[in-house]
Amino acid sequence: MNILVINAGSSSLKYQLYNMTDESVLAKGLVERIGMDSSILTHKPTGKQDVTEVSEILEHTTAIRKVLGMLTNEEHGVIDSIENIQAVGHRVVHGGESFKASALVDSDAKAEIRRLFDLAPLHNPASMMGIKAAETNMPGVPQVVVFDTAFHQTMPEKSYLYAIPRVLYNKYKVRRYGAHGTSHAYVSQAAAEFLDRPLEDLKIITCHIGNGASLTAVQGGKSIDTSMGMTPLEGLMMGTRSGDLDPAIVPFVMNKEELTVNEVNSMLNKHSGLLAISGISSDMREITEGMEKGDPNSTLAFDMYEYRVRKYIGSYAAAMNGVDVIVFTAGVGENSIVLRQRVLEQLTYLGVELDEELNSIRSGEPRRISTANSKVVVLVVPTNEELVIARDTHRIVQASNR
Ligand code: ADP
Repeated sequence: MNILVINAGSSSLKYQLYNMTDESVLAKGLVERIGMDSSILTHKPTGKQDVTEVSEILEHTTAIRKVLGMLTNEEHGVIDSIENIQAVGHRVVHGGESFKASALVDSDAKAEIRRLFDLAPLHNPASMMGIKAAETNMPGVPQVVVFDTAFHQTMPEKSYLYAIPRVLYNKYKVRRYGAHGTSHAYVSQAAAEFLDRPLEDLKIITCHIGNGASLTAVQGGKSIDTSMGMTPLEGLMMGTRSGDLDPAIVPFVMNKEELTVNEVNSMLNKHSGLLAISGISSDMREITEGMEKGDPNSTLAFDMYEYRVRKYIGSYAAAMNGVDVIVFTAGVGENSIVLRQRVLEQLTYLGVELDEELNSIRSGEPRRISTANSKVVVLVVPTNEELVIARDTHRIVQASNR
């Protein structure tokens, strides 16, 4: 079975085509600047030359048509016809409380995703455009939705409720949902497999640290707490997001600076984090470079970022009364030797012992970076959210055919 995985944003669309016989990637790519003039389609067929095409792509239906054109193109294609795609899997950011697992797309699922627009106004409408575009271009092909929030639906009330009037939960479902669930689920499972130990027996802290960043406490394979909240703004300091702050700062700043709701939202989501403190960049590579050159603002930005990661690890070790495994993943987690080192060298109280040599090895494979004597095993596990989407889609479509 060949499965097309789609991750639709408001002006972009990422795709990967999988052959599920051996889970190999036949092609992947990205359409950027949808809705603008000169949209860019970058197509990367496995074993063939990459190709970039600039054209006007005004909406997602055209974007998917172009992608299907590339996938079946004589020169750049990897399949003979569209009929060789047996299912489509979509990444959806918000599944609310309704979706505790991935689901087949039908009219009920679509109505529910639409109801959730309120909770994820930036993301879910884009996913919906992706679903509609795939339906239009590939009528009759089964589609599956995989949610970033689903893995965290196992959190108990004490982790997901905020200490504010209950009526806000009852009326608007204001609560913690978390994000990056597909990644936290994948790397915790992969960690157990790597260690050849049952996931049910392990207390794992998964650190997904990329542009967006979240930590999750995974106990016995279930998410029991996670650092992102009702939206992906809470928790760690991120590239451009503030993470945790005193909620009273919001009305204070709005009042003093005469900011609208949109403006304050934009400040906290797009103009905060590493970018605000360093004054240089939201990109961890540039912050690290600045720090190595002795720039005080980059050094402070790095210190604040690292300190927040370390505090969350400590709080999740407390939440689970211990930790067996710490996993680093995503852009910063997989690549930043110095971030991992700085976090781990101050977790000796937990029994963490970093092996500096192992920490400095770069590889795309799951690997251990703690010493053989370390009480807590520390791993780097490259995440693969697209593969999880493809696997879920495969499983659900096969089950529905029975
Ligand atoms: P997204 O959340 O957009 O998927 P990624 O997981 O790709 O993001 O992570 C992007 C982040 O990873 C950027 O801040 C980037 O600087 C960082 N990153 C990538 N490579 C390195 C590296 N070698 N050292 C430090 N940071 C890195």
